[in-house]
Amino acid sequence: MSGSTAPSRKRQDPDPQAFSWAEARARLSDLGEGRINLAFEALDRHMDGPAAERTALRFLARDSLEARDISYRALNERANRFANVLDELGIRPGERVYGLSQRIPDLYAAFFGAIKHGCVFTPLFPAFGPEPIRQRVEIGEPTVLVTTERLYRRKVAEWITQTPCLREVLLIGDVSDVDEAPENTRDAGALMDRASSQYSTRPMAPDAPVLLHFTSGTTGTPKGALHVHEAVITHHVTGQYALDLRPGDVYWCTADPGWVTGTSYGMIAPLTNGTTLVVDEAEFDAERWYRILQDQAVKVWYTAPTAIRMLMRQGPELARAHDLSTLRFLASVGEPLNPEAVHWGREVIGLPFHDNWWQTETGGIMIANRPGLPIRPGSMGKPIPGIEAAIARQGESGLQILHEPDQTGELVLKQGWPSMFRGYLNQEERYLKCFDGEWYLTGDLARRDADGYYWFIGRTDDVIKSAGHLIGPFEVESALLEHPAVAEAGVIGVPDEVAGETVKAFVTLKPGHAPDKALQKELLGLARQRLGPAVAPRQIEFRDQLPRTRSGKIMRRLLRARELGLPEGDLSTLEGGSND
Ligand code: AMP
Repeated sequence: MSGSTAPSRKRQDPDPQAFSWAEARARLSDLGEGRINLAFEALDRHMDGPAAERTALRFLARDSLEARDISYRALNERANRFANVLDELGIRPGERVYGLSQRIPDLYAAFFGAIKHGCVFTPLFPAFGPEPIRQRVEIGEPTVLVTTERLYRRKVAEWITQTPCLREVLLIGDVSDVDEAPENTRDAGALMDRASSQYSTRPMAPDAPVLLHFTSGTTGTPKGALHVHEAVITHHVTGQYALDLRPGDVYWCTADPGWVTGTSYGMIAPLTNGTTLVVDEAEFDAERWYRILQDQAVKVWYTAPTAIRMLMRQGPELARAHDLSTLRFLASVGEPLNPEAVHWGREVIGLPFHDNWWQTETGGIMIANRPGLPIRPGSMGKPIPGIEAAIARQGESGLQILHEPDQTGELVLKQGWPSMFRGYLNQEERYLKCFDGEWYLTGDLARRDADGYYWFIGRTDDVIKSAGHLIGPFEVESALLEHPAVAEAGVIGVPDEVAGETVKAFVTLKPGHAPDKALQKELLGLARQRLGPAVAPRQIEFRDQLPRTRSGKIMRRLLRARELGLPEGDLSTLEGGSND
């Protein structure tokens, strides 16, 4: 098997034939008549067992490398207190609770507390600017926003009066004195301190909504992907099958809970599996990261290709200056993992990275270089037990599954796994378009080799992946169009050695505005301030005109092809013919 490497000290690969979702369901609790609660599986279920006194969260504050340990029991009680606070405030099951916070312990308590109470939780990325936050609040109409005082003042206060749906703003983390606290907010920490630590977690129907995750499309506003309580079955088993989680492991997922990886595998799967979850409030810093891996004796580490490439840039010496010998399993997700990164892991850390693939809509890992399989560097791996994947193309008679290996087509998955999204909030048509018969269409292009490994090729649409974050070009274009000088904007991803892609905008101006450096700077600043640095364009280029289809849509595909010197493809729909 050329290009493969032997598996390292790993669990046996489960027999896919012996696996069924019904059997996996039976590994979790039945709260009566088949009811289930995701938070119960993460916390309550451990209260009578050996995990109750084990550390659930190992928290490192932004400015410290000293860990504060929070046991499963303590986290469960704190979550109960939050559930009681919601109850006392009259918040009903089914209502939506948004979280916008740095990674601090009470974010985790609020997350599980809201879910215990039957609410639907939406995590937001704290590095978003005010605009993406406001937009997601308008779409999802939460009744509660859990945030910190600092983020509230910087990103929410200016527009909150325009969103009457929000009945409660609950502040976690440090809150200034009562007299100075922002108007119409409550100090949730103080309320939790006073609330009861006992709460009877609400049994929910397996298909009751539990999470609303926003994801970006090519057009229109962000889509709110709805997930249900039984998704926890996928989180639980994939934690074992793809990440090799074992009870008592110290595990670190570097993703922020504002993205789906940071909830499914940075909150839920590690706790259902009884591991100790490292939570670092600080942002990326190579030396700090190695210190955490070393000092906290991390065993399983789940990170992203951009972060791995940033570590690689620092050179091997920094890694070798740390004792990383406790590590047992390394995994990566979110963007293509280049084979050099797999090899670098093996040479410098002593273990290879295991790439895996999934997306917001699938709710959990679908394809992985699983612990018991030889890694194929550059490949995403094979479907996990319970997942049937295929490569397909639209043919004359509908969707055609390509059975022969090594053909490029859209990656499709057979419906029926528990963490599959069950709708885009208020966008039924957009949801139905994701399916063709029994197949879910992922929007990714891939190839399967003769041994069943899947290889990522690209996206079928124009969305941009930068540092692992999915960015909708429309959202960026809309922010630029708010500037009075901008007539039209087209946004694409351009290759970047570290981040995979970065955002580049092409802009035409209204008459009377000069395309000079000052305006360019102003537009970059506006976008950064409104969208936040993770989403804003890095480059803006002025153009006299942008290529459009005859129906008036900006052809991002063509902008990108021209920018990168790629074939321009079919130009028959181009406005003004192919000489545009
Ligand atoms: P998100 O919904 O933000 O998690 O983004 C999902 C998308 O990220 C997928 O549809 C892919 O385009 C990309 N992606 C995720 N994992 C991988 C991977 N291992 N290799 C290549 N692309 C990936």
